Amino acid sequence: MRRGLSTLVCLLLAGLLEASEIVWPTSMDRTTIRSYEDYAQPTVSGKPESALFGMVRDDQHRFHEGVDIRPITRASNGEPLDRIFTAMKGSVAYINQPLNGPYGKYVILYHPEAEIPVYTLYAHLASIEKTLKVGDKLPKGSAIATMGHTSTSPTAIPKDRAHLHFEVGLVLSANFGNWYNQQAELRDSPNQHGIWNGQNLLGFDPVPVLARSSVNLLDSVRQLPTALAVTMRTKRPPDFIQRYPGLLAPGSDPAKAAGWYVEFTWYGLPKRWTALPPESQQLPKGTWSYVALDQEFRPLLVQRKMITADAKMPGETLIRNVDILLTGTR
Ligand SMILES: [Zn+2]
Repeated sequence: MRRGLSTLVCLLLAGLLEASEIVWPTSMDRTTIRSYEDYAQPTVSGKPESALFGMVRDDQHRFHEGVDIRPITRASNGEPLDRIFTAMKGSVAYINQPLNGPYGKYVILYHPEAEIPVYTLYAHLASIEKTLKVGDKLPKGSAIATMGHTSTSPTAIPKDRAHLHFEVGLVLSANFGNWYNQQAELRDSPNQHGIWNGQNLLGFDPVPVLARSSVNLLDSVRQLPTALAVTMRTKRPPDFIQRYPGLLAPGSDPAKAAGWYVEFTWYGLPKRWTALPPESQQLPKGTWSYVALDQEFRPLLVQRKMITADAKMPGETLIRNVDILLTGTR
């Protein structure tokens, strides 16, 4: 009995040690939150769900890759006064001051010391701390900005719907710039954000992360459900798995792989990578192939354009993500 107890204590301690400490990224006190309606800033629809992660907008036709958190304090002119804080310790990876996209003014942090090196993103900021610069190492809870409603999207965000758009996720490819420059249809709009372009960032649901004061982020990603699978043939392993080796299936050796069996979430995050040896019957004939889906996720996969409506072919989101992942592997 006593040994059972001490084993349990050891397991609990190990769990605590392998976890990132998380703080709420706005002035709101996390302990006052009872449900998402307490922090959600809805879109013009007024539906609280529209602030959450997923196919929550335009009758489930538009994906929202983060969570929108409302302000708790406003100046007499109605502008929010909430401070924006680093959700966990990390370093400043990117600062976007000009108003040149839907995120408006935004900051991205990279968290190399987390169990898996995620990024966190803080968007629509009114202002960014003047002293903040790329490379700064910050503890959790550091003030980096003030909440706002900056954005260049055609449907501007009015001040009464000011919010923090918060994201946590993974970077698809360090070679994103090469992929971008190869896209004929993007030739007229140069990439202004390097690898920190939204198309190269894959957010997962931040709410389970923000809800707790300590989270093992690698376990969080590993536990995301698989919705479809792809096989790919590569000469060199994608840099994604060098950055995120924790997502390799047991026994998968990138040095011996001729390709990969890759499991994706319904929104396109490649969450598990199994190496395929040169003799594998699973290797695709061409560069890559969509090989399996979980019927439970079929409606979401279609809405997210991961697959076509008849579920027979890959959709534009899956094609783009796989294309970016494979940049520089052949
Ligand atoms: Zn948002």
